[in-house]
Amino acid sequence: MILVTGGAGFIGSNFVLDWLAQSAEPVVNLDALTYAGNLENLATLQGDPRHCFVHGDIGDSKLVSRLLAEHRPRAVLNFAAESHVDRSIHGPEAFIQTNIVGSFRLLEAVREFYGRLPENAKNAFRFLHVSTDEVYGSLASDDPAFTETSRYEPNSPYSASKAASDHLVRAYHHTYGLPVLTTNCSNNYGPYHFPEKLIPLVIHNALAGKPLPIYGDGRQVRDWLYVKDHCSAIRRVLEAGRLGETYNVGGCNEKTNLEVVHTLCDMLDELRPRADGQSYRTQITFVSDRPGHDRRYAIDATKLARELGWTPAETFATGIRKTVQWYLDNPAWVENVTSGAYQQWLGKHYGEN
Ligand code: NAD
Repeated sequence: MILVTGGAGFIGSNFVLDWLAQSAEPVVNLDALTYAGNLENLATLQGDPRHCFVHGDIGDSKLVSRLLAEHRPRAVLNFAAESHVDRSIHGPEAFIQTNIVGSFRLLEAVREFYGRLPENAKNAFRFLHVSTDEVYGSLASDDPAFTETSRYEPNSPYSASKAASDHLVRAYHHTYGLPVLTTNCSNNYGPYHFPEKLIPLVIHNALAGKPLPIYGDGRQVRDWLYVKDHCSAIRRVLEAGRLGETYNVGGCNEKTNLEVVHTLCDMLDELRPRADGQSYRTQITFVSDRPGHDRRYAIDATKLARELGWTPAETFATGIRKTVQWYLDNPAWVENVTSGAYQQWLGKHYGEN
């Protein structure tokens, strides 16, 4: 049994689906179902006794302690977070609450649980914290990629809150001996990505005939990884990572935002041409840049390859094609998460809006 937090979000739900496709080991999935959490991502698991969904907050110590005592997981994987940089600029409070206070409370509950485990269970137990390359700050165009020893220099409330949680995780290893692992991954893309992030937003707006907004000059560089490759890296680190270590995860796919948007437009031109025969590129609109926008992220994932033999299965070309095809094949999912229908459904089932 493993306990996954944030398993109804983009990466967490992909992870849970992958895990249960490859293993008989059950998953307890704790998620607060914020705007970014979506049970529809997990619809194929309905009725599967290996998946136990629990609606709740990682900061709810009582609930987390009860889940740990009841299910006795051999690992806790922390995906739960507020994850959108723009939202962190306009409202940092939720990021402090979940990413820092929530992670702290989760760590405390896990520490207490771990302390009471028998020695053999202690040896097998792991706490894996899922984090981001954004904690390292921004690179100049000729800087080498971030390694695990790069200095932490977060620039947004989002990355600062993730940096704080990474430090807490590290401290719980060094101070209390908690068997922790941390992964710092580059930008993910793939199925079930909420359409506020660049790739799903561009696909969604393009098909809806809306402008395709690009911040500043569009020359910001991001290092992209297909979400299933992130999931396989997390599984590998959980399996064989050295305790207390951090592992960078990335696909060596540095692209400017403009290149990404051009690729998406060209792929949509091929797979779903516009009725008027024009290219989707005509919908591109440049908008003023985000404050403190990091110029370049690039991840050096050599340690993960060398120590644990992990390499990504997808190139950017193959992963982006799968992604575009997924969004074309799943318009109902996009419609539900953007129209508010899902939030209404949630309100009915959980008494929330
Ligand atoms: P997401 O926003 O899609 O999903 C986050 C999930 O956490 C949602 O299901 C949400 O309901 C849940 N959640 C939020 N607050 C919670 C709380 N207090 N208690 C319980 N659940 C809560 O995010 P994502 O893109 O899937 O990212 C998952 C993790 O991976 C995050 O920790 C993020 O920092 C990290 N990460 C993301 C990327 C990326 O490109 N998306 C890259 C590297 C690392």
